[in-house]
Amino acid sequence: MLTFTEKESLMRHLKNLKNQQVSIGFVPTMGALHNGHLSLVQKSVADNDITVVSIFVNPTQFDNPSDLEKYPRDLEKDISLLEPFNSKLIVFTPSISNMYENGLTSDTYFFDNLENEMEGKHRKGHFDGVATVVSKLFEIINPNKAYFGEKDFQQLQIIRKMVAQNGQKVSIVNCPIVREDNGLAMSSRNERLSTKEREEAAIIYQTLKEVKEKFHSENIETLNKLVTERFLPYANMQLEYFEIADEETLKSANSKEANKKYRAFIAVFIGGVRLIDNIALY
Ligand code: AMP
Repeated sequence: MLTFTEKESLMRHLKNLKNQQVSIGFVPTMGALHNGHLSLVQKSVADNDITVVSIFVNPTQFDNPSDLEKYPRDLEKDISLLEPFNSKLIVFTPSISNMYENGLTSDTYFFDNLENEMEGKHRKGHFDGVATVVSKLFEIINPNKAYFGEKDFQQLQIIRKMVAQNGQKVSIVNCPIVREDNGLAMSSRNERLSTKEREEAAIIYQTLKEVKEKFHSENIETLNKLVTERFLPYANMQLEYFEIADEETLKSANSKEANKKYRAFIAVFIGGVRLIDNIALY
């Protein structure tokens, strides 16, 4: 397994591989790897000759300095989890200055308002940061396929839109959400939860499943109220938002229309840790 810390040497290496018609898969991550990330890596390794995994905690996508500071980092453990993929894998761990040579700023993007819904409303500048870093990484790696988790469904839709707007050739592959045994969506931020908080956090997925079961029999207003009620008994959990939204536009829905696909989205604070999850309602 090769590791690169500088984009220039990675680009030289990939150029050689591409001259030999090697297909390149790409899995961008912020590290603190878990089985959710590894499911993306497995899929890419199965689909491509070589997979590049980037590990880079991208400062420009954090609106909260304390969240950035406390974001879990364990490069040694990450490398050991990737080791078994061996010669099929390249790991890219750039420094901030190598990625942001002209200063730590994001470009401004417009994605037909996808960027202004949910996470965009609650984390100002988040998707400008995400699009900036993913654009940079796509430029460096120029992959045939790139793998994104449905855990960050809004991010996935935004990356699809970005690729379409730029006429980029990379195909975006979506991967299902990997969960803990109790249903909690795997996330690097789960490391910051106590054992009790991890157990209690199971209510997030339980509630999403209840919404899915009742989606056809109940109206959206009733479901919104139901979700608020489910979190009331938990003093240390705050529901930041719950929305049922059109999967294409990500616009919040107040009523159901035939021929549209809906998805429920949720963000919850447990202690100081912010968790997101979603579920398809079809
Ligand atoms: P992150 O390191 O959190 O930026 O995530 C890197 C990639 O892994 C993103 O495409 C995420 O959507 C994906 N991912 C994170 N957690 C999960 C999960 N539990 N299941 C599937 N994909 C995930």
